[in-house]
Amino acid sequence: MPDSYETEWRAYRKIRLRALLVFLGYIPCMLAVGATFLLLLHFTAVAVIPFFLAYALLMCVTFFQLMLWGCPRCGHIYGRFRYDCKQCGLRKWAGDDEEVAEAGASDSVIQ
Ligand SMILES: [Zn+2]
Repeated sequence: MPDSYETEWRAYRKIRLRALLVFLGYIPCMLAVGATFLLLLHFTAVAVIPFFLAYALLMCVTFFQLMLWGCPRCGHIYGRFRYDCKQCGLRKWAGDDEEVAEAGASDSVIQ
């Protein structure tokens, strides 16, 4: 069991940033590809379809990576919109197991 989850959280941040960039880059990329192929190279619209499909595939792969990202401690799917692991209770961005234990203790007091 690792003492710190910093490496895993860093990997999660990279996946999250990549998903954001892929999402925000969709319109500019498709406009650039469309303008290049249709206006500059005078291709038909059918020639652009593979790029649209490739980008859609890139978006799907990136978002599935983000959605299916595993909890650093137990390995179960963490979930995109969760702040703690449904399986083991590891809080998002928790540094180590001591921090988790303290957080878990404070939760039990609140409840
Ligand atoms: Zn977990």
